Amino acid sequence: MAKHSYPESVDFHAVGVSSDSEQNPFRIVQRQVDEAAALLHLDPGLHELLRWPLREIHVTLPVRMDDGSTRVFHGFRVQHNDARGPCKGGIRFHPEETIDDVRALAAWMTWKCALVDIPLGGGKGGIICDPRNLSQRELERLARAYIRQIGHHIGLVKDVPAPDVNTNAQIMAWMVDEFAFMHGYNEFGVITGKPIALGGSLGREDATGRGVMITVREAAKKIGLDLKGARMVVQGYGNVGSWAAVLLQDLGCKLVGVADESGAWSNPNGIDAWALKEYAKEHRIIKGFPGLGEPVPPERFLELPCEVLVPAALHNQIFKENAPRIRPRILAEGANGPTVPEADPILFQNGVYVLPDFLCNAGGVTVSYFEMVQNAYNFYWDLKTVHEHLEQKMVTAFEAVHEMAQKYKVHNRLAAYLVAISRVAEAMRVRGWA
Ligand code: NAD
Repeated sequence: MAKHSYPESVDFHAVGVSSDSEQNPFRIVQRQVDEAAALLHLDPGLHELLRWPLREIHVTLPVRMDDGSTRVFHGFRVQHNDARGPCKGGIRFHPEETIDDVRALAAWMTWKCALVDIPLGGGKGGIICDPRNLSQRELERLARAYIRQIGHHIGLVKDVPAPDVNTNAQIMAWMVDEFAFMHGYNEFGVITGKPIALGGSLGREDATGRGVMITVREAAKKIGLDLKGARMVVQGYGNVGSWAAVLLQDLGCKLVGVADESGAWSNPNGIDAWALKEYAKEHRIIKGFPGLGEPVPPERFLELPCEVLVPAALHNQIFKENAPRIRPRILAEGANGPTVPEADPILFQNGVYVLPDFLCNAGGVTVSYFEMVQNAYNFYWDLKTVHEHLEQKMVTAFEAVHEMAQKYKVHNRLAAYLVAISRVAEAMRVRGWA
């Protein structure tokens, strides 16, 4: 019989609890909703509904470890709003996951889907775990345990998860498989970000970076910036950063600064973005690539002179103190939440054209939606078709935000909230929710 090793006793009231600080992301979301609701003169009932998730599921997951013991994990699935369609949003595996992080990310998915005008709401999931300490078999059992717990609350017309931090196409494949076992039929569209062999879409890998490139290109047209020779600085050279860099280089931008977890560098002569992408794929980090140039202190990296700045790594990078020194013509937020709210007015005043995260990085969820459509039809598009539809969605969303910013004379992030929140509020109103 397997030896039972119980974890240190768990305080259930403390599992995944967030701090009440001003930087608590869920409090930030609520403040952003309040600001937009006031400008839109939103009905108080609709406003209150938008401030909270409609549903939250907290799950406890027993997982048999390779040594025969059982470990108990905790997880969540938050469904923020489904007025415009089934919830959509990733599943994160992270040791410091909190319910408030997941709530905030679920709300941001609601706005993101509304902004690119796809018929979906917002959701997000998370499991408190450190995947680096789990074997592949243990990861598989954890993924399947999660689906056994939430499997009756998700589905093509309810809530559609996807990969996020520390989860990937393989984990999605195990989840789809477990869902099929539970229900007795295949429903590939229940989860997106799957391997191509299991109903994944072509064009998903570069979709977020491609969306960054499209929105930068449109912004450059609006402000009269010629991208040929424009200096670009990219923080984070993973999926989003590296694809954004190579696609923008193809439009003529010159990569003059790049950073990842291994350090930060600047090279005014330009760094070959494609060659660096190959190097990063092989070595997992950019350190050691010939031609990176001079090292830069990471805390000053975002202040490098450039026309296009792409933060594509972490949240809370641009704040009140460093915002006055960050002066690109275009700030393209590939990452989620790189700018704290207090920095927005400073960037606006300094004439920085900000492409807010839930516009700039919406290419990923847009192609995830295309994946759902293809699964539903059981008919698969070629890459050209995926690119054409993505182009149309991103350009239309960009124009809606630009126009709203002009109309209300506000910064682009608030404009994006105004577009998204008014669409979600209208769906709730016609459904008779308030
Ligand atoms: P990734 O794991 O592929 O890459 C992350 C990159 O950030 C790596 O190059 C890593 O070295 C770098 N990094 C980590 N710590 C750093 C530090 N302290 N300083 C500088 N660089 C650091 O992740 P990704 O998928 O590219 O996601 C990046 C961001 O984009 C995240 O905020 C994510 O939520 C957001 N995002 C991703 C997608 C997507 O489709 N992948 C979609 C929307 C938003």
